[in-house]
Amino acid sequence: MKLLQSKLAKYTEPQKAKALGVYPYFRAIESEQDPEVIMDGKKVLMFGSNCYSGLVNHPKVKEAAIEAIRKYGTGCAGSPFLNGTLDLHKKLEQRIAEYIGKEDVMIYSTGFEVNLGVVSTLTGREDYVIFDEQDHASIIDGRRLSYSHALKYKHNDMQSLEQQLKKCDPDKVKLIVSDSVFSMEGDVANIPEMVKLAKQYNASVMIDEAHGIGVFGKGGRGVVDHYGLTDDVDLIMGTFSKSFASLGGFIATDKEITNFLRHHSRSYIFTASITPASTAAALAAIDLMEQEPERQENLWKLTHYALDGFRNMGIEIGNTSTPIIPLFVRDNYKTFTITRDLLEEGIFVNPVVSPAVAPHDTLIRFSLMATHTMEQVTTALEKIQKVFRANGIID
Ligand code: PMP
Repeated sequence: MKLLQSKLAKYTEPQKAKALGVYPYFRAIESEQDPEVIMDGKKVLMFGSNCYSGLVNHPKVKEAAIEAIRKYGTGCAGSPFLNGTLDLHKKLEQRIAEYIGKEDVMIYSTGFEVNLGVVSTLTGREDYVIFDEQDHASIIDGRRLSYSHALKYKHNDMQSLEQQLKKCDPDKVKLIVSDSVFSMEGDVANIPEMVKLAKQYNASVMIDEAHGIGVFGKGGRGVVDHYGLTDDVDLIMGTFSKSFASLGGFIATDKEITNFLRHHSRSYIFTASITPASTAAALAAIDLMEQEPERQENLWKLTHYALDGFRNMGIEIGNTSTPIIPLFVRDNYKTFTITRDLLEEGIFVNPVVSPAVAPHDTLIRFSLMATHTMEQVTTALEKIQKVFRANGIID
């Protein structure tokens, strides 16, 4: 057998899960991503979406995307650097710059590519990237590509962050990077303290608002806006794949920085720009988030209700205070089994197991959308209680 095949033959985890009938990945959805979806021809309540705003199936967002296809076609056939820039892309960049409150914005093809391209371009061999141990994989990979010193601090622990800052050469670039809302456990980064430490140690701060936008801040502007720290955070990153109901991502920062990134950031230059439909959908979603604050209000009402419900049942939910609610199971196979049992009960949730989290931290990730109803959340809570009891997680 070739070396490659013999190496891969040892990777049998998916087969094991399939043999046990609990393989939980690539489950196909046959409808739009709404609070209710169709799977295997049956209705299932969706509690695994990242579209917290619930705009992913909004008629105005869909219509804007269709209009853009009519006008511009289905693709841009090139990098934004060369033939791939549309006036529509520029309009979206300006709109986000105003919305977020930064001088300039660049649009990348995905949020992953934003982190990859920004972190790796702004830091080099002599510099430091200082990051939370639970930061998103794209931040970790961006640091790897930069060859800079990796200084990881304990999760949301500002003393640990300061210890890392003390290790840095004062004359080199120090970039602190953190998620605003942590993607798996739903807790919120201590951005005010981070900004204070950054000033003290002459460091720059980059915040990933993937899960903060649409949830926190005025018109869903994010956690940095919620804290009133837009001017103090050097770089604000966001993605269109969650509350913006589309695909793509952005970095909002000073013109001096975007000018450098536009001419050096490899994941920006060497890939095609986002489709006209994705661009127009994101534009429409921003308008709706500003025009319809009642969505955000409903999201928070549902969030508080679900948080109280899970706590009262005795399910461990960690430090979350957001629509991302981790239901700790602390065992890979039980997490898979519960995911399957819940789907049989008509509830879609996401399993999060090692290596995404440590084996003793495995969890069911339950997430809310502004478009869920109280009745749907009540149904989910009841089914989850039943399945968690049946699997011996709660009494
Ligand atoms: N940052 C965080 C915190 C994320 O959770 C994600 C997506 N899961 C990304 C970045 C990447 O975003 P995208 O889906 O746009 O590539």
